[in-house]
Order: sequence, then structure tokens, then C-alpha cells
Amino acid sequence: MTSPAIAFWFRRDLRLEDNAGLWHALNDGRPVIPVFIFDREILDQLPQKDARVAFIHQQITFLQEKLAQMGSTMLVAYGTPESVWERWAVEYPLQAVFTNHDYEPYAQTRDAAIATQLAQKGIQFHTYKDQVIFEKKEVLTQASAPYTVFTPYSRKWRDGLNPDTLRVWETETVFNHFWKSETLPVPSLQQMGFQPTDIPFPDPVPDIQIISSYDKTRDFPGLKGTSRLGIHLRFGTISIRALVRTALKHNQTYLNELIWREFYMQILSNFPHVATGPFKPNYAAIPWRDAPEELERWKQGKTGYPLVDAGMRELNATGYMHNRVRMVVASFLSKHLLINWQEGEAYFAEKLLDFELSSNNGGWQWAAGCGTDAAPYFRIFNPESQLKKFDPQAKYVRKWVPEFGTPLYPKPIVEHTFARERCLTAYKSALGGG
Ligand code: FAD
Repeated sequence: MTSPAIAFWFRRDLRLEDNAGLWHALNDGRPVIPVFIFDREILDQLPQKDARVAFIHQQITFLQEKLAQMGSTMLVAYGTPESVWERWAVEYPLQAVFTNHDYEPYAQTRDAAIATQLAQKGIQFHTYKDQVIFEKKEVLTQASAPYTVFTPYSRKWRDGLNPDTLRVWETETVFNHFWKSETLPVPSLQQMGFQPTDIPFPDPVPDIQIISSYDKTRDFPGLKGTSRLGIHLRFGTISIRALVRTALKHNQTYLNELIWREFYMQILSNFPHVATGPFKPNYAAIPWRDAPEELERWKQGKTGYPLVDAGMRELNATGYMHNRVRMVVASFLSKHLLINWQEGEAYFAEKLLDFELSSNNGGWQWAAGCGTDAAPYFRIFNPESQLKKFDPQAKYVRKWVPEFGTPLYPKPIVEHTFARERCLTAYKSALGGG
């Protein structure tokens, strides 16, 4: 290929349809080379059997098949972004790279470095908003400050919606601008040191029935009452704009959850210290217990608290855990066991298929009481009452804890009233009376 071209770099937007950055690239006029990098800076830290890598690989293979039908292909590399771009900049006549914004701390640093590297070669770097409806500085208070309270944030977020923020980027009208090439290979999982997974991935198509009754079903882990779209939002295999349009039509409570996703994203972007410590700095003084055996029992789902154990076993087996149960297990670790919430945050980050740094961090800080939420720390979930309320027939518990109710089921790791008092004393002493 000798005529000037541009590249479109896929990252967390693994779809051809309704993709903002891709639309801009395809409308630029120059042939578009789609590219993807299996980033060693990230992959080298993951276990060999990471189901998320298998998911990405599957999606890249789908995209490659679709592009082949159009007589085009994607360049897929395995390496560090810096070394891959160094090579591509020599091998292809690139004048610009188009991509969508990626907001996590690592991605921000990476993109700044790549933009500089490309600029030195005379290659422009253009980025677009795609992953969210509103970015970190787009929903602000009267005083132009970021919101730290959800309800007023969500009101302002809703007020900002209009046909433009929810537009469909009709990429299919310009698919003929992809460069023409024979199909190039995608490195196999094995070549990159990973193994396939037997964990099934949820369908990327929203189930309208589930979304329509979401407000009534979402709290019961024994029901199929939530959308299971987390992994698709994480990797952009669905468009957030399309999902918001669906939510607006069918269920306001569901829309609220999509707003929580952006609330926590803007918290992480505007208050980056949350990635490594509590949002409220004085919570760093809590004297967490060093209890590796209890931590291990929590991870394995052997605490003797059925709802906690069911949740942890569901997570270990499927990479998923119901939201209600995420709240209960997180509260149990940070309050009943008084183990640093960051241990739990790290374990979820390793296991969740839908792992999202901002939501995971926000969820854990909420459970430990150190985040943006104003609820006082002395509201401590009782895992037994949570079970009675949200899984009264123990349907969910029996699915994941078959020995529940038999002598084989372990005794509680800690007694509830004792644990509650221990937690209150520790928090009170660290926070000076709360
Ligand atoms: P649904 O209930 O169908 O919701 C639809 C979508 O809305 C979700 O896929 C998600 O993108 C968003 N959403 C829903 N609830 C929340 C919420 N409370 N905060 C932010 N976004 C929300 N969500 C993640 O996407 N990644 C995480 O790593 C993550 N970690 C969590 C850790 C803890 C301790 C807690 C309490 C919550 C966490 N959540 C996380 C939020 C929530 O549990 C999941 O989004 C939800 O369970 C995913 O299932 P679903 O796709 O069926 O969601």
C-alpha cells in the first residue's frame, strides 16, 4: 500500500456500528486501516486463564470476519503499544490515527505517550467521545465543580440529554472507506500465552422484557432480573447511546443504573486519588485487620454466611456476581471481617468479567463507607436479614452452595453482633467519633 491512509485504533469499542471515532475516521476521505493491539503492558499481569482476554479475542475474531466480508482486514498485533506503533508507522503510509477516548489512568498515560510518539513521525492523533454520554467536565454544578453526590448529578445528566448526545453514528453508510486487503491473521490465544475459557459470555442484545421489569426484579439474585450487559459496556460490544435510548423507552430505574456508571467514571477522572485510597482521606486511618486465612475463606465462599458464600462462589465459577450480593459480600469483608476493602477490590478486579475500575472502586468505597456516599458508616448490612429479604426461598444460595443446610456447611467465621461492635469501635476510633 502506497497511498496515504489513516488508522482506526479499537480499544474499548469493539464494534463497527454506531462507533463515534470510527465514523469520523471513515468520513475523513482517506482509506481507513482498522487496528487492534493485544497490549502486553496489560496482558503480562493477567493469569493465563483470564476469561476477559478470551472474550476480547472472540470479539476481534468476529470483527475480522465482518471486515473480510467487505474485502478489508484489521491489523492485529501482540506487543506494547509503543513498539507496535513504531513498526506500523514504518510499514504503512499512515498520516493519522483515530481512536475513542479511554478514561482509566493507565490509558490516559498510554495515549499521551503514543500521541507524542506519533507526532514525532508527523502522524496526527485524533480522539473522540464514545464510551459515555457525558465526560468528566460535561456534568458540573452551578459553580463548575464536579458533583460528588449522585442525585443532583443524575438530574443534571438527564437534563443534558438531547438528540445530539444520543445520536447514532451511522458508520455502515461509509464502510466502503475501509482499506482493501486480503485477510491478515489474528494471533491465537495460545500464541499470546493464554488459554480458552469454558465460561459462557452473555448475549450482547438487550432483553427488553428484563429491562421493562427491571425495577421490580433487579434486587433478587434468584431471578433473571438484570440485563447482564456489563461486559459489553466494558468492551464496547454495545453502544451506550443505543442502551440509553432503550432505557428511556422502557425503564427509568434501569437508566439510573447507567447514570451510576458515568457518575463513578467522572469521580475517578475528577478525583484520581480514589484509585489508590479512600475518597474521604480520613478513612485511611482505619486499623484494618491482617487476617489472611479469613480473607482466603471469603474468597473461597466458606464464611458460613450463605449469601456471602453463594456470591463468592458465583464469582469464582462465572466471573459474575449479582449487584445485591456484591454489596453484601463487600460490606461483609470490610465491616464484619474488618479487612481492607482494597483487598476485595483487587480480587473483584481479577475475577469480574465486567470489571470496570471506576464502578468497582465506587462500589467498594460505598460498601466500606469511605466513598462519595453520605450514608453513615454505622449502617452495616446484616447478611442474614439480606438473605431473608432478597433470597427468601434460598433459591440462589442453593444453586451455589449445595451443602447449605447440611452438617458439611461451615459454621459462621465470626458472630454477627460481635463483628458489628468490633467494626463500630474501629471506625469510631479512627474517625474521631464519626
Ligand atoms: P444491570 O443491573 O442490568 O445494570 C446495567 C448496567 O448499568 C450495568 O451493566 C452497569 O454498566 C451499570 N450499573 C448497574 N449498577 C451499577 C452500579 N451500582 N454502579 C455502576 N454501574 C452500574 N459494575 C461494573 O460494571 N464493573 C465492576 O467492576 C463493578 N464492581 C462492583 C463492585 C461492587 C463492590 C459493587 C457493589 C458493585 C459493582 N458494580 C460493578 C456495579 C454492579 O454491581 C454491576 O454493574 C452489575 O451487577 C452488573 O450486572 P448487569 O450487567 O446485569 O447490570
